[in-house]
Amino acid sequence: MFDWLIVGAGFAGATLAERLASVRGERVAIIDRREHVGGNAFDERDAAGILMHRYGPHIFHTNSDQVFAHLSRFTRWRAYEHRVLARLADGRLVPMPINRTTVNRLHDLSLTTEGEVEAFFASRAEHVPEIRSSEDVVVSRVGRELYETFFRGYTRKQWGLDPSELDKSVTARVPTRNSNDDRYFTDTHQFMPLHGYTAMFGRMLDHPNITVLTGTDYRAVRDSLPHRRLIWTGPVDEFFGHRHGRLPYRSLRFRHETLDREWFQPVGTVNYPGEEVPFTRISEYKHLTGQVHPQTTITTEYPAAEGDPYYPVPRPENAALYKRYEALADAVPDVWFVGRLATYRYYNMDQVVAQALATFRRIEAEVPPRAAN
Ligand code: FAD
Ligand code: UDP
Repeated sequence: MFDWLIVGAGFAGATLAERLASVRGERVAIIDRREHVGGNAFDERDAAGILMHRYGPHIFHTNSDQVFAHLSRFTRWRAYEHRVLARLADGRLVPMPINRTTVNRLHDLSLTTEGEVEAFFASRAEHVPEIRSSEDVVVSRVGRELYETFFRGYTRKQWGLDPSELDKSVTARVPTRNSNDDRYFTDTHQFMPLHGYTAMFGRMLDHPNITVLTGTDYRAVRDSLPHRRLIWTGPVDEFFGHRHGRLPYRSLRFRHETLDREWFQPVGTVNYPGEEVPFTRISEYKHLTGQVHPQTTITTEYPAAEGDPYYPVPRPENAALYKRYEALADAVPDVWFVGRLATYRYYNMDQVVAQALATFRRIEAEVPPRAAN
């Protein structure tokens, strides 16, 4: 009899498995329908020996000292600050997020102070009485021209929706800067796991109380793996047999290529904001990992409606549908829903870890430990 069955061996599931096994001494079975642990953060060496991410580039960044300290128990780190350039239709490469350099290059200006750049944005910005959508966020800050150059096409490709149909939270993930700072993130901790994510997951799950079963779907074992309680990190609507209809998740198709040259592009990721190409971005792993190799591996992301669920789609009708599933989830005893798919939140890795640690604290408060059961 397992104390816990955990469905999904990504950040949510693995964080909880480790806590339950090592702090509470409980017996945990963690399963994943994929052939590996790590969830979407899974990385592996390809045929050329280059460390790459099967489900697209994952860069760790957080402002949470707690999350960083927690994960540091399972990995050493490589300092890495992600930089992104946008390739315009005319071939020019400019910094993304939009910053002073972007504006100067695009408009052939020589703005030098933050005040000048702010004044430039203000002269272009449109008045939006209430900022609700992903279009509103950008046009109210930098105006329509920069919006159309950098956000409209990219977002339409990525989500299959116009930015006016998406919550403001989506494009608000990307700031606009009046400085020359060209880092994609400004978090206090920005690192890559030194030996990769999969190695880090291996250390988290390497515990005598934890049984890992990959290539195992919940449906196949729900009745044959006796367990007291369940943690679900898959899509919440799947757990309830899509009773209220399907929650939309956006998918991607990844094209991985190893090229016979040392480098492909100058930075980790180049975004392609225009609709003249069907993909959104190309990432080159050696920038992230620091690996030295005569060849290089890149991944191109093609957004797709069908396929593995990667992104919850933040818009009001989906939030309303999720609320109905959340009500079902709240009513099932002894089942905890955690993670990006199970709580339908557009979370980064660190936010998922923070959510899992908070869930663990709730479990500690609510569930008597094994010895008292
Ligand atoms: P997942 O990693 O999705 O794990 C859930 C697991 O559950 C899956 O492995 C799935 O196979 C399994 N599962 C589902 N249903 C079942 C079932 N019925 N039976 C068995 N197993 C099941 N975050 C960052 O912080 N930085 C980044 O740079 C970054 N880049 C990203 C790039 C892409 C392309 C994507 C898609 C996401 C990115 N993220 C990034 C987000 C990050 O991937 C997530 O925050 C994190 O992986 C979510 O962890 P999770 O455990 O909630 O879910
Ligand atoms: N976005 C955009 N142009 C860009 C970068 C981002 O329009 O060059 C928008 C797009 O809608 C994207 C969102 O901002 O989905 C969030 O970007 P982020 O890079 O955080 O996406 P993720 O890494 O989560 O795919």
